[in-house]
Amino acid sequence: MKLLSKQNIVFFCIIGVIFVVSVIVWLVVSDIQTENTTALVYKNGVLIETISLSAVETEYEYAINDDGVNVILVKSGEIGVISADCPTQICVNTGFIGSGVIPIICIPNRLEIRIVGGSHELDAVAG
Ligand SMILES: [Zn+2]
Repeated sequence: MKLLSKQNIVFFCIIGVIFVVSVIVWLVVSDIQTENTTALVYKNGVLIETISLSAVETEYEYAINDDGVNVILVKSGEIGVISADCPTQICVNTGFIGSGVIPIICIPNRLEIRIVGGSHELDAVAG
């Protein structure tokens, strides 16, 4: 009887863990699938470019040449700085971003690239 209840506890723990993991995986996957990933490019704190990364089919690059040069590569779902004339190269070393977790920031050139996903966030930015 004791052994049986112990097994039951273990069984329910396993079910619980599987359930939690499933929910997390589902949230992540559904987020990726429904996300309308948009990159916002700021220069001197001013929004200069809005790029819908979800709509990019062929990757392309363009240069922002203002206080300094930042060459940006735009891919489907991702954006990154591939070269820059700043001394720190932090913007280049950040690599490609496709989520809102980490922005690309080039402090010397006063450039910032952020990712927003979903129409609600976009509406907030537009308004
Ligand atoms: Zn930089």
